[in-house]
Parts: sequence; structure tokens; C-alpha cells
Amino acid sequence: MAVRAASWAFLGLIFAVAASAAEGPLVVPAADSPPVATAARLGGDESQTRFVLDLSRKIDLHAFTLADPYRVVLDIPQVTFALAPKTGESGRGLIKAFRFGLVMPGGSRMVFDLSKPVRIDKAFAIDASVDAPARLVLELVATDRESFLRKVALESRLTRPEAPSAGRPQTNGGDPRPLVALDPGHGGIDTGTKGPNGEQEKDIVLDFAQRLRARIEKSGKYRVVMTRSDDTFVALADRVHIARNAGAALFVSIHADALPHGEGDAQGASVYTLSETASDSEAARLAEKENRADVIAGVDLKTEPDDVAGILIDLAERETKSFSVQFAHKLVAEMKPAARLHKTPLKSAGFRVLRAPDVPSVLVELGYVSNRQDLQSLLSDHWRNRTADSIAQAIDGYFATHVAGARAGAN
Ligand SMILES: [Zn+2]
Repeated sequence: MAVRAASWAFLGLIFAVAASAAEGPLVVPAADSPPVATAARLGGDESQTRFVLDLSRKIDLHAFTLADPYRVVLDIPQVTFALAPKTGESGRGLIKAFRFGLVMPGGSRMVFDLSKPVRIDKAFAIDASVDAPARLVLELVATDRESFLRKVALESRLTRPEAPSAGRPQTNGGDPRPLVALDPGHGGIDTGTKGPNGEQEKDIVLDFAQRLRARIEKSGKYRVVMTRSDDTFVALADRVHIARNAGAALFVSIHADALPHGEGDAQGASVYTLSETASDSEAARLAEKENRADVIAGVDLKTEPDDVAGILIDLAERETKSFSVQFAHKLVAEMKPAARLHKTPLKSAGFRVLRAPDVPSVLVELGYVSNRQDLQSLLSDHWRNRTADSIAQAIDGYFATHVAGARAGAN
């Protein structure tokens, strides 16, 4: 996985130190089980707001700010969040809302959406006392935009993790079989869309991708790489990197959509390819929403990685695009008898995750968690298996008729 080695090691170190410091001799050894967050509270008003998190033991933390939209990010060691349902969905004072989750193995993150620019006045953790658990405290004070931006610029110079290393496609290690990259959307702190009973897109699409992986591998004709295989956040550009670095011949991103309440009741699966101009307004809305994954997780990759940007050779790009569209057609044809499709199932828009210039890429929206019948399908074993079968079939058909020969010749 393209985790950032530096911050990974850094968090691991914090975790080890925090764990050993907090464990007294009488405590049952549990150094390998993460601390548990048991309650979260907000206090204060529009000029000063305090956030408090109760924890089973003291942890280390690193807080910083991000602009546009205004956010505070709190990086902490891996924490088990045992907080009340809907915690963070509404805020108070300077904090509009907040979310939390895993961003990498060993590392959790909290992201606070702000109503206006703030200064981090205090960010610290304290040990448990006789009458209170260990706590993490964040105190924010309102400030002006200029001071806020100055601070962001300073922090990003000091603390911003290194960009993922420039990837070069690797060799197959002698294995000539085509490599399929499966990309379950969202993960960790980024839950994706949610169903009426808290069903999360990130869980639905991960399970689906794992079933699809098993089916693709069963034939023995293909290898599979997953951009994530657990509940971890992966930035959009990193997903593209993982596929390109592994030498993928095809990239399939798996998502599930939802319409906001009161905006109609769309239903059925859709297949998207990359285009600078969206095929319709719904495709534009969806791309905008999926592209926000990095903002949701407090990761801002403002520049495209150089190796991707620099490689935008017109010809290769055009070939990739044509392969992507061919595969998208095949997908729709195979999925039609298996899954309910959207009334216009083939669409295009500027999805950031489809931007590999040399890997044919599609994004499949399996259905709408906001539609009752779709949600029932999405949660059904039978539907998942049947639909995964149809996608595996389309992948097989694509390689059989279009690419296997051409790519083998090119390698
Ligand atoms: Zn999604």
C-alpha cells in the first residue's frame, strides 16, 4: 500500500510511547489494543470553542489547520471510537461538525469543519485522575482569514507529510497475466454515503470488491491488486498510484451513490468514464462529491503528481480513453441481466480517481443507498454475488476481445 512511510513510522512511535507511558504495573497488559474514545463534548460559542474527548488512556496528538474549507485536523495514534451514534454530525460554536476514523494502520484522525477561521489556542492530552478519565482537549479561538492562512502556510512547510513517491510501473515479476486493480471507494475516516439505518458505502463497496476479487482470481487468468483491503483511508491520487505502480492493465473503482433527501428517487447502477465535460448535471454532481474524499479526510493534494501530469501524452491518453469506453460498454451489457441499471447507465465526468493516463479506468456506482429497492439489493448476498459475477464476466470479455494481444505485444 502507498502509505507514507515517514508519517507511518512517526505515528507508530507515538503510539508505542503513549502506550507504554500510560500502562501502570497493575493494569492488564493491553499494549496492542488501541485506546478507546468513550465520549466527546463541545463547549463554548462563536468566539471560543472547546472540544473534549474522553479516552481509556492518554495519547499523543498533532493538530493543524487546513483552508478552503476551514478545518482543524487532529492526528492521533489508532483509537477505537466507541462514541454515541451521530456524534459529530452537528456542532457548536466554531465547530460545525466533525468526523473521525482510521487514516492508516496505526493512525486515526479527527477532522473538524469550522464555521470561520480559527487559531488553535490549545491542543493537549491529560492523564486520568481520581475522578476523570484521560482526556484530549482542543481549544479554538476565532481569528481573521489572513492570520489563518499565514498559519496554514507555516504549518504545511513544517509538518506536511511528503507526497507519495513518484511511481514507476513495476515489472510483473515474470507473471505475464494481466493485472486488474480494484478500488473500493472511501474507507477509514471517509465513510462515503450513508443509508437510512447507518449502512455505510465504504463497507458495502469493500465487501463487494472482495467478492469480485475472488471471482476474477478464480479463473487463474488474471492477477488482482486492491487499493485498499480493509477499513483504511486512501487518498484519491494514491489509489491511482497503487494501480500504476503495480502495472495494472485495468482499473475498476467501486462506489454506491445517494441522492440528497428531497431530490427525487434515482435508482440503478451506472458506469462512468473520465471526461473533462460531464455528460449531464447528475454526473457532474457525483464527480464533485466523490472528489471531495480528500477534503473529508483532511488531505489536500492540490497538485497532481508530477509523473502523472507529465505523462499526459495525447496519443496514449486517447488510446486509454477508448479502451475505458469499450470496457464501460461491455460492463453495462454484462450487468444488465444481473443488476438493475440506471435509466442512462453510461456517463462521464471528471472523477479524479480515473485520471491514470495509461490505465483504462471506469467507476461503477452499484446503486443508490437512498433508494429502498437498491439498498435492499446492495445489502443482499445474492445480489452482490450475481452482480460481481457479471462484472468479472465483463472483465474477462474485455481482455479476451480487445487488449490481451495488444498489451502483451507492447510489453
Ligand atoms: Zn463513493
